[in-house]
Amino acid sequence: AAMVKESVRVYARVKPLGRRQQAGIYSVDEGENSLSNLEIIVPHDLADGFINNKRESYQFKFQKIFDQEAKQDVVFDSIAKPVAECVLAGYNGTIFAYGQTGSGKTFTITGGAERYSDRGIIPRTLSYIFDQLQKDSSKVYTTHVSYLEIYNECGYDLLDPRHKASRLEDLPKVTIMEDPDQNIHLKNLSLQQATNEEEALNLLFLGDTNRVIAETPMNQASTRSHCIFTIHISSKEPGSAVIQRSKLHLVDLAGSERVAKTGLGGHLLTEAKYINLSLHYLEQVIIALAEKNRSHIPYRNSMMTSVLRDSLGGNCVTTMIATLSVDKRNIDESISTCRFAQRVALIKNEAVLNEEIDPRLMVIQLKKEIQELKDELALVTGEQRTSELSQEELLRLDKLIEIFLEDNDPDSNLNVGADMRKIKYCFSHMKQLMNHSKISDKKLLSQHTSEEKDTNKDVGEELKKLQELLQQRNNEINILVNMLKKEKKKAQDALFHLNAASAGSAVFEQCPSVNLEERQSPSSCSSLKEAKDLIYSVHRLPFLSRETGGKMSLGCQEAFEVFKRDHADSITIEDNKQLLKQRFSEAKCLGEKLNESRNKINHLKGEITQKQFQRAALAVSNPSEELNTFDPVEEELRTQIEKEKKRYKTMFNRLKVLKVEIEHLQLLVEKVRMKMQKDFEVWWSEEAINLQVR
Ligand code: ADP
Ligand code: MG
Repeated sequence: AAMVKESVRVYARVKPLGRRQQAGIYSVDEGENSLSNLEIIVPHDLADGFINNKRESYQFKFQKIFDQEAKQDVVFDSIAKPVAECVLAGYNGTIFAYGQTGSGKTFTITGGAERYSDRGIIPRTLSYIFDQLQKDSSKVYTTHVSYLEIYNECGYDLLDPRHKASRLEDLPKVTIMEDPDQNIHLKNLSLQQATNEEEALNLLFLGDTNRVIAETPMNQASTRSHCIFTIHISSKEPGSAVIQRSKLHLVDLAGSERVAKTGLGGHLLTEAKYINLSLHYLEQVIIALAEKNRSHIPYRNSMMTSVLRDSLGGNCVTTMIATLSVDKRNIDESISTCRFAQRVALIKNEAVLNEEIDPRLMVIQLKKEIQELKDELALVTGEQRTSELSQEELLRLDKLIEIFLEDNDPDSNLNVGADMRKIKYCFSHMKQLMNHSKISDKKLLSQHTSEEKDTNKDVGEELKKLQELLQQRNNEINILVNMLKKEKKKAQDALFHLNAASAGSAVFEQCPSVNLEERQSPSSCSSLKEAKDLIYSVHRLPFLSRETGGKMSLGCQEAFEVFKRDHADSITIEDNKQLLKQRFSEAKCLGEKLNESRNKINHLKGEITQKQFQRAALAVSNPSEELNTFDPVEEELRTQIEKEKKRYKTMFNRLKVLKVEIEHLQLLVEKVRMKMQKDFEVWWSEEAINLQVR
C-alpha cells in the first residue's frame, strides 16, 4: 500500500498580548531549510539571583511561526489544509494544540466565541472537507464525527444528545478496549453521521455546549481535560469492493503548566512537574519515541496516549501547534512548551493508505465456500442436508426431550446423534420450557401483594413532591429578597457616591468594607452537609433541566432577568444579534435579487423559443428561401442569458457563504446564552447555599 513517511510537523503560534501585559523579549527569524527560528531571551531581572551559568538566550526551530497578528484563515491554510488533504486521500491525520492555559489552544482549534472570523480549525476544516467531497463525484463518501473529552483518566461522550448533563459524570462514560491485534476501540463513544457542513457544525456545537454545561468551577474541566474532535471519512468508488477509511483527530490538550519543584528555591527554568498527569505520560511516550532502538513505548499508561497512539509514532500524518503566551511572567512556561515541541519534532510517523475489502464481497465468497462444504458433506454422509429440520424430526425430538425430562434416573441421557441442528433445537426448546414455568410462578406471587401497596405509595410520593416544592419556593423567596436588598443598596450607594463625589473623595475608602462584612459567614460541618443536600436539591429544580426549559418558576424568571441585565456577555449577545439582523436582511435582499434574475433568465429563454417558432413558421411558408441559420437577435439574447446566469451564480455563491455565516452566528448567540444560563444556575445555587449556611 502507499505510504507517507515523515516527521511530525511542529508549528508555533504566539498569542497577542493583553492590554496590561508586559512583553517578554523574543524574536522570530526565517531560518535556513525553510524552517523558522524563535529566540527567547530571559531578562536579567528574572535570571538574577539564580545560578550564574544559566543561559540567557534560547533558540527553537519550527516549521513556521505565527506571530501575534496572524489571523485564523492563514493558520488554517498553512497548518490544517494540508492535513485535511491527506485525510481526504485516505490517510489518518492529527492536529494537536499544546501550551499552557490561556495561551490560545481552544482559540486555535475551535475558535473564539464572539466573531465569525475567529472561527478556528475545526469549523474551517469541516467546511473545507465538505466542499471537497461535494466536488468529487467519482466516489461515494460517508462522514461521521465523534467528540470525546478525557478528564481524570475517564472518557466522556460530548455528543450525548439528551441535554441532561449538568455534570461531566452525567455524560456517557467511554472506555478503552484493545483487540488481539492491539487496535484501540472506544466503547460507548457515539459516531454521529453528518451529511453536510451544517449537520457537522450542529454536532460540534452540541459537544461544545455539553462541554461548557458540564464544567463546574470546581473541576475546571477546560484546563484539566483533553478534548478530541474526530472526523471519520469512508469512501468507495461505485462498483469497487475496496473501501478507504480515514480519521482526522483535532485535539485540544489540557493546559501544560507545571509547578516548579518547591524547596529548591529559584530553579525557575529547570525540571518542573506537570499539573496534569496524563501530559507527563504523553511526554514519556515522546521521549521513548525519540530514543533509537527503543522497543517498548508506554502508550498504555494513560487514556489519552492510548487514544492518540497511532498519531504518535504510528499510522498518521501528525501536526503539533505549540501555543505561546509571551508576556514576561510566562517566559518560563513558553520555554517549556518549546522544548516539548523540539522533542515532538523528532518523531517519525508512517502513514499508510487505509484500504479494506468490502464486507459484502466477503459474504458472497463465504457463502460460496459454505455451499461447497455442504456438497462435500452430502457426498460423504450420503444424505442431503438442508438447514431446516423436517416436521417429523421436530416431533421426534420433542418426544425425546419429554421422556428425558420426566426420567428420574440420574444416569439418563438425551442422545440425538451428531447433528448440530438437532442439538441446537433441543437446547432452545428446553430454554423455552424453563422460561415459561418461571413466568407463571411469578405471576401467581405478585397478584396477591401489589394492589393495596399502590395507594399508600401514591400518597407518600405526592406529599414528598409538595414538600420539595415548598422548599424550592422558600429558597426562591429568600434569594429574591436578597437581590432586592442589593438592588436597593446599589441605588443608595450610587446616591451616596454622587454625594461623596461632590463632598470630596476621602469617604470612598469606607465603602468596600461594608461589602466585606457581608460576605463573612461561619461554616461548620453540619451546615456544610446541609449545603450539600441543598445543592443536590437545587440541581434538580425543574428550571435547571433544559428539557423542561419553558417551565421556569416566576420568581426564578424574575431573578434571571436581573442577572441577564448585569451579565457581561449580554453585550456580546446584543452585538451578534445586531449583526445577525443585518445579515438576515442582506440574505433576504439577495434572495429577492436571485428571484428577479431567475425570472429574467426565464423570460429571455421564452423570447428565444418564440424566435425559433417564428423561423420555423417562415421556413414552412417559404420553403424555397434559404434558411438563415444565424440570427443576430437570438445570438444577442443568448449572450444576455449567459451574463445573467453568471450574475445569478455569483449571487447564489454569496448567499451560500452568507447562510454558513448566519448559522454560525446563531450558534454563537446560542452558546453564549447557554453559558449565561449556566452561570445563573451556579450563582443561584450558591445563593441558596449561602442562605442555608447563614
Ligand atoms: P487555552 O485554551 O489555551 O486555555 P484560550 O484559547 O481559551 O486558551 O485563549 C485564552 C483567551 O485568549 C481567550 O479569551 C481567547 O479568545 C484569547 N485568544 C487566544 N488566542 C488568541 C488570538 N490568536 N487572537 C485573539 N485572541 C486570542
Ligand atoms: Mg482551552
